[in-house]
Amino acid sequence: MKIFTIFGNPVSHSRSPLMHNTVFKALGISACYTRTQLDEGSELRNVFFAKGLSGANVTVPHKEAAYAQCDEVRGIAKTIQAVNTLVLENERLIGYNTDADGFMSAIQSFGPVRNALILGAGGTARALSIALRQGEITPTILNRSSGRLEYFLSEGLNACTWDDFTVDTYDLIINTTSAGLSDEELPIPRTLLMELLSRTKGAIDVIYGKETPFLREIKITDLPYKDGSDMLLAQGVLANHLFLHCQYDTEVIKPIMRESFHY
Ligand code: NDP
Repeated sequence: MKIFTIFGNPVSHSRSPLMHNTVFKALGISACYTRTQLDEGSELRNVFFAKGLSGANVTVPHKEAAYAQCDEVRGIAKTIQAVNTLVLENERLIGYNTDADGFMSAIQSFGPVRNALILGAGGTARALSIALRQGEITPTILNRSSGRLEYFLSEGLNACTWDDFTVDTYDLIINTTSAGLSDEELPIPRTLLMELLSRTKGAIDVIYGKETPFLREIKITDLPYKDGSDMLLAQGVLANHLFLHCQYDTEVIKPIMRESFHY
């Protein structure tokens, strides 16, 4: 039996085990997907091999640590320098990033988008900013602290902290911070958020499965919005393709995974 897991801290909220196990069961695949609370990101590779895993997903805050511990990184993950999917290939750890494509698929419903403001500067913000730029959408990154902005600046992207940010008009506001994940915090000060929402055409929170304070503020407006469920579903299908070497078509996997959201 193949064993997969999701590494994260926290990880108890993750829907990935249910999504993947539902597909394994429905299609009679001999595999099991667990969750692994990992305090030290530097231990990820050791734990992967100690558990005899065939593959894994990586969530907050270990995506950059996962990138650093791969034997080989493929595709957009090389530019992003953050890995959310690991596959064992000939005893080598191969890293991918499926967040980027998952997100681009999720925002299609907003219609044409020219520019976007990304709140947060972690692994997810990296993935989304590179994907947006590839999709000819200009991203701006806004983070509470400056430490993680270096990457974006080195990529030639607009990136600033709350202190040096000047309010502008953006077609889409995207929350990629973990504010609201296990607390009741907004990703940016409320007055700033209100001003940005009064000028935008839509908003998305990549957190899923709970109504974050960010989503609650958007609901008060008439703006189109969504949480991270569509992105989660799209990246889950892509992960399945990587784990099982494209054995099953998207049309087969996607409805089964979506169904698991109702359990
Ligand atoms: P990281 O830990 O890499 O980055 C977190 C970012 O959030 C940092 O920029 C950090 O700022 C900021 N932040 C954390 N807490 C606060 C706060 N209270 N107020 C303001 N900013 C804050 O996380 P990831 O990028 O890996 O993941 C971020 C979120 O995206 C998670 O909630 C995760 O669950 C979600 N996600 C959802 C996916 C989906 O499929 N729907 C896919 C991927 C991620 P600083 O630099 O100052 O510390």
